[in-house]
Amino acid sequence: MKPASRTTPSRIPQRGHTDTETIYPILDEALFCTMSFVWEGRVRSIPQSIVRMGPAVYFHASVGSHFFRSLARLDEVCITVTLADDIVVAKSAFEHSVNYRSVILWGKPEVIEDHEEKYQAFRALTEKMVPGSWDYLIPMTDKEMAKTLAIKVPLTEASAKVRQGPPSPQESEREVWTGLIPIRSVRGIPVTAPDAGGIPVPDHLR
Ligand SMILES: Cc1cc2nc3c(=O)[nH]c(=O)nc-3n(C[C@H](O)[C@H](O)[C@H](O)COP(=O)(O)OP(=O)(O)OC[C@H]3O[C@@H](n4cnc5c(N)ncnc54)[C@H](O)[C@@H]3O)c2cc1C
Repeated sequence: MKPASRTTPSRIPQRGHTDTETIYPILDEALFCTMSFVWEGRVRSIPQSIVRMGPAVYFHASVGSHFFRSLARLDEVCITVTLADDIVVAKSAFEHSVNYRSVILWGKPEVIEDHEEKYQAFRALTEKMVPGSWDYLIPMTDKEMAKTLAIKVPLTEASAKVRQGPPSPQESEREVWTGLIPIRSVRGIPVTAPDAGGIPVPDHLR
């Protein structure tokens, strides 16, 4: 992706990246994002599930969603994805930081009309959320497809910013512990629904 003034951080620009080798893995690891846009002169910001297929990110919602119907008429949305890895504990509060990998992207939302692309977007999102589940589940029907709106935002303008590593060295007379406090977002052990009828947790969820 071509670097541009809008995608270059003014603070610590060396942490900024515009290559897909950095951007794509961050988008692929994040399950959720925040989508921001201007609607009727006011800023709005909404959390969303996100999946990437090739050079575009995909979203879905009910066809009754006011928000999604508005999206289709916008010229631009701004999407942010954040993976927070560690709190960086320095000797002074001033030098505390965060290890992170984040992406900011802009694009024009497009409603997906093509049946196959829409189907593949639902499949990719389901597999991202619950890996190995698509073929296990009741197959998606055309009626369900018709009730769901899928939107894609082509990846044309995006930046990543990455900070990794220990706290910056700091001289001081006082002995103060420094280091990293890891932050982890993990899938826990599956909890069976009360009406699951004794069906065991399938292998792909173990
Ligand atoms: C979890 C987390 C916590 C953070 N906490 C703080 C904090 O408390 N204080 C603070 O000052 N900063 C924090 N940051 C960093 C913050 O996101 C900005 O990078 C930083 O404020 C410097 O912005 P700037 O003035 O260089 O950005 P600008 O110059 O306004 O940015 C220009 C362009 O650079 C790119 N860019 C800037 N930041 C990012 C980013 N994070 N990810 C992807 N692209 C980016 C965008 O394309 C943006 O349009 C945090 C980041 C993360 C992910």
